[in-house]
Amino acid sequence: MDFTIPENLRLMADTVRRFVKQDLDPISRQVEDEDHIPEEIVEKMRELGLFGLSIPEEFGGLGLGTLGECLVYEEMSKTNACFRTRIGTNNGIGSQGIVLDGTPQQKDAYLPRLASGEWVACFALTEPEAGSDAANVQTTAELKGGEWVLNGRKHFITNGDVADMACVFCLTDKQKRAKGGITAFVVEKTDPGYFVGTIERKMGMRGSHTCELIFDNCRIPADRVIGGDKMIGMGFKTAMKTLDKGRLTMGASALGSAQKLLDLSVDYAKQRVQFGKPIAQFQAIQFKLAEMATNIYAARQMLYHAAALRDSKGSSIIKEASMVKLFCTEMANRVADEAVQIFGGMGYMKDFPVERYYRDLRLTRIYEGTSEIQKVVIARELLRG
Ligand SMILES: Cc1cc2nc3c(=O)[nH]c(=O)nc-3n(C[C@H](O)[C@H](O)[C@H](O)COP(=O)(O)OP(=O)(O)OC[C@H]3O[C@@H](n4cnc5c(N)ncnc54)[C@H](O)[C@@H]3O)c2cc1C
Repeated sequence: MDFTIPENLRLMADTVRRFVKQDLDPISRQVEDEDHIPEEIVEKMRELGLFGLSIPEEFGGLGLGTLGECLVYEEMSKTNACFRTRIGTNNGIGSQGIVLDGTPQQKDAYLPRLASGEWVACFALTEPEAGSDAANVQTTAELKGGEWVLNGRKHFITNGDVADMACVFCLTDKQKRAKGGITAFVVEKTDPGYFVGTIERKMGMRGSHTCELIFDNCRIPADRVIGGDKMIGMGFKTAMKTLDKGRLTMGASALGSAQKLLDLSVDYAKQRVQFGKPIAQFQAIQFKLAEMATNIYAARQMLYHAAALRDSKGSSIIKEASMVKLFCTEMANRVADEAVQIFGGMGYMKDFPVERYYRDLRLTRIYEGTSEIQKVVIARELLRG
């Protein structure tokens, strides 16, 4: 197999690596303290085209493909995770429904604004009674007088407070549910009856907000069904296809953070002296570093292979995408735990970024499908037929 990274993708990854070092790392602590990304940084992200990584070039995006997007996410995740999350919903879960299934009019209307970062998109599937069991959505949409009327409540929605539009999954047929009864809609923040509710207090991911979205007799035009009338009832499929790609980029994000933690741990182990020598000279520490590096190497090969496979085969890599998310996120959480251990008491202090990675990475095993749900998907695919 040819594992050469194409030159254009390598250059893009280099650009992002420099951006992380020069612009993001220096303000990471400030963003953590203030729980807010400064607007001038968001503007630089726009200038670099980071909001449109996965949006086709004809709509103003970079059209990078899955491997390119994963390389960028890997680099972006070597700093505070909130920066990656800020661009993540435009490139991933917020826009992909339209990229994959949108009508030509919807693509023209929304994708250029999302690609430039003028608008932010979010993805609203989860509800209090519909988490892992995503098909159990209770939010309804009814066609009344030529308009769709939405009622219900979504929760845990990333970027919900800054989003200009949401990709919202609603029940349109109570009997059919996932099999023809869930429809995906574009809802704009100015639509009457659309409200941002509580902003959650979280363990980590400061600088990235997670909110409730409320639809109270929210009226939207009939043409906001993603994919048009022929897609009424087909929204669950759109949601699953969207999450499929997200599982690879989530793997890339976990991988980037794990690599950063290994680099920090190697540096610290070489300079921290105990019993008269650097702790890197103790075999107990060397074995931790060796295992971290080996797991990262395995995760990277797996990720790049699955990403290249998706680029060549299209979106039908359900099993591999779940395997990548499961392996990379579980691996990165083990790496974070060992990094805290290598740093000793300093690993528990806010003076070093290790404790932040430890908290932020914990989320990767939960959102866009928990590790348990990835195993359910992998087993289902294995046993199919
Ligand atoms: C910070 C954050 C941001 C998020 N952003 C978004 C977003 O932008 N948009 C969005 O729509 N959602 C978002 N989510 C929701 C996220 O995808 C869900 O939290 C996740 O899918 C799990 O659902 P749940 O929290 O309801 O847990 P539950 O489904 O209640 O799961 C609880 C536990 O039971 C396990 N479990 C459940 N069912 C099974 C089963 N069949 N077999 C084995 N184990 C099972 C789970 O793995 C888990 O360990 C976000 C969540 C968080 C925390």
